[in-house]
Amino acid sequence: MALIHNLGFPRIGAQRELKFALESFWAGRTTDTDLEATALTLRQQHWLTQHTLDLVPVGDFSLYDQVLDMSITLGHLPKRAQGLPGSELDQYFRVARGRSVQGQDQHSIQAGEMTKWFDTNYHYIVPEMTADTRFTLNPTRLLNQLSEAQAHADLQPGQAKPVIIGPVTYLWLSKSKDGTDRLALLDQLLPLYSALLEQLAEAGAQWVQIDEPILTTELSAEWKQAFETAYHTLKANRPQLLLATYFGTLQDNLQLVCNLPVAGLHVDAVRGRDEITRIVDWLPSHKILSVGAIDGRNIWKTDLNATLDWLEPIAAKLGERLWVAPSCSLLHVPVDLTSETALDQDIRQWLAFACQKLEELQLLGQALNQGRDAIAEALAENQAAIDSRRQSPRVHNPAVKQAVAEITPALGARQQAYPERAAQQGEHLKLPLYPTTTIGSFPQTADIRQARRDYKQGTLSKADYTSLMQAAIEHAVREQEALGLDVLVHGEAERNDMVEYFGEQLEGYTFSQFGWVQSYGSRCVKPPILFGDISRPNAMTVDWITYAQSLTDKPMKGMLTGPVTILNWSFVRDDQPRSESCRQLALAIRQEVLDLEAAGVNIIQIDEAALREGLPLRQSEWQQYLDWAVDAFRITANGVRDTTQIHTHMCYSEFNDIIESIAQMDADVITIETSRSDMELLDVFKDFAYPNEIGPGVYDIHTPNIPSVEQMVQLMQKAAERIPAERLWVNPDCGLKTRQWAEVTPALTHMVQAASALRAAA
Ligand code: GLN
Ligand code: ZN
Repeated sequence: MALIHNLGFPRIGAQRELKFALESFWAGRTTDTDLEATALTLRQQHWLTQHTLDLVPVGDFSLYDQVLDMSITLGHLPKRAQGLPGSELDQYFRVARGRSVQGQDQHSIQAGEMTKWFDTNYHYIVPEMTADTRFTLNPTRLLNQLSEAQAHADLQPGQAKPVIIGPVTYLWLSKSKDGTDRLALLDQLLPLYSALLEQLAEAGAQWVQIDEPILTTELSAEWKQAFETAYHTLKANRPQLLLATYFGTLQDNLQLVCNLPVAGLHVDAVRGRDEITRIVDWLPSHKILSVGAIDGRNIWKTDLNATLDWLEPIAAKLGERLWVAPSCSLLHVPVDLTSETALDQDIRQWLAFACQKLEELQLLGQALNQGRDAIAEALAENQAAIDSRRQSPRVHNPAVKQAVAEITPALGARQQAYPERAAQQGEHLKLPLYPTTTIGSFPQTADIRQARRDYKQGTLSKADYTSLMQAAIEHAVREQEALGLDVLVHGEAERNDMVEYFGEQLEGYTFSQFGWVQSYGSRCVKPPILFGDISRPNAMTVDWITYAQSLTDKPMKGMLTGPVTILNWSFVRDDQPRSESCRQLALAIRQEVLDLEAAGVNIIQIDEAALREGLPLRQSEWQQYLDWAVDAFRITANGVRDTTQIHTHMCYSEFNDIIESIAQMDADVITIETSRSDMELLDVFKDFAYPNEIGPGVYDIHTPNIPSVEQMVQLMQKAAERIPAERLWVNPDCGLKTRQWAEVTPALTHMVQAASALRAAA
């Protein structure tokens, strides 16, 4: 008998109930009792959805973040949050977001730093360590949820499986604030974990899932040793431990992982299929192997027959020792496909969200235990959907495949090297020293957003919508002219989101209505779904940009999102490599670039905001990713004449490991986020002798603060110590869409004055 279980369920709710409950609590409109009631209802619903599984996760629910929950369980808050008055919930939200309730919290503090959870788009609150960090066990949340699960959700004794983050991963995710070695805290942490496990066993837990996803990354000898230390200590405790690894392969950690003294091991068989045979061979014969056979990171239906083809021999070998599960927690996929009534029927039948993945799991379990015949009908239905996707002309477009096959290196190369191009562009564009520009978007006012909504809902005609957008563009252009900026933008009023805008116009993309995935706290994103070969039936931006250009004699910068960013912020195909989808996107956006150029647009910016975040978990795989990512950018950008100036923008400030690839993109100008780093990040550009132009941001658009002329002049002087002035631009850190005009106008006035002062002094 193979068992089936789940590692975690999305907590936000099919209709984002948790988001709305949190936001109304924070706004002071509802009480903590209301919030707790919504949370309990959600947990109960989720357990109910999962109650036919052999083991059901408990403690995977969180009001904000599972890492912060673990910090609370370990009695570990940042120093600045300790000893402040208020309930436990107040403390919790203070660490999460700086304050507990809007405006009513006298004790607001700096929020905990947030960072990406491995290679997902989920962000966790980073635990902060110092030499005097002390832990104290606070098992209340877990014990409460365990008894709730037993009492309200009708789970059998032992069916509830508490989920915790393992001690080694917990330390690895934390940040040392004073240079303390995080691993030095392990000895202190382990007795708490032991006590916690004992209490969970006391409360009826037979299995505890202990998540150690860092086992799919490259670990130094010290961190490997920490695993030995930790699990040789914890083996003395009663509940059986399922050590859960996910998000990748184990590689040189495989032997270590197989031999750790735990009762069971979970591995990601979606990303690590090739390792399964070795693991089956290596795993000591008393251990459970939980195989993550259903993709917890993507939204495609599982090919059940194909999965059974490789699972059945393992089941035959392992018998009762085989468990089957999704590859990782289902936190990273939307909740329920049944709400998607507007999705194209063809495409809908190819998809599975969390609830559907649990049904697939059920079917796999039945087939393994009773034979495929027991689910013959479901298998046939699944096969039909899989075949339909495989053969669909909506997925496969021979012309696109042919175009990708015909890509040559020449496609990605400019005609002449940067110095020659730069001279031609200089003559053509006649820009002053320290040219000023912005990153693309201007404030998205309530009127603009309303117009877009009305148009989408059909209550505003296309003609009326167009004139409202043109009015917004004209307003942005007039403002920029009045400010005296050198290179103007149209302002992006027509764009709800820099990826969705393009996805909506590309063939091969579709959108869900409720496909929300938690990004952090109450914040959710709804990634577009890239399902088929990508083509661009019509120009996507040319009308707006040429309209904007028609209003002014100043150069107008065309604004596009790059292929890597579009890819990284979407659910993508699993039937071809990411690099292949990226090349298709590159060809489509390249056409847009060429159309813009043909329409007389001399400067084109291609945003690659998400290039860095696409880096694989393992450093050994970085170069391969960077190679195809840079290649895709070059294909997109470099078909233009030498007089056309290509810009790119990246809104982050870590270029240390990727500077070589950034240079290979060969954009004429790159604008980056720098204002908060005091220009020190330009050191890496200087040391690398980065050859092209750079616009280091001088205006932090993440705050309402208005920088002074002096501040910006000083920043640019620091920049000029590192990069020759002839190659510097003056611009903000990122787009201005989240700001108000009342902030933007004075800030940009100062920025233009700063540029004049710099020119005068040059
Ligand atoms: N052009 C986009 C904007 O200005 C860039 C946004 C981004 O980099 N995240 O909004
Ligand atoms: Zn940006």
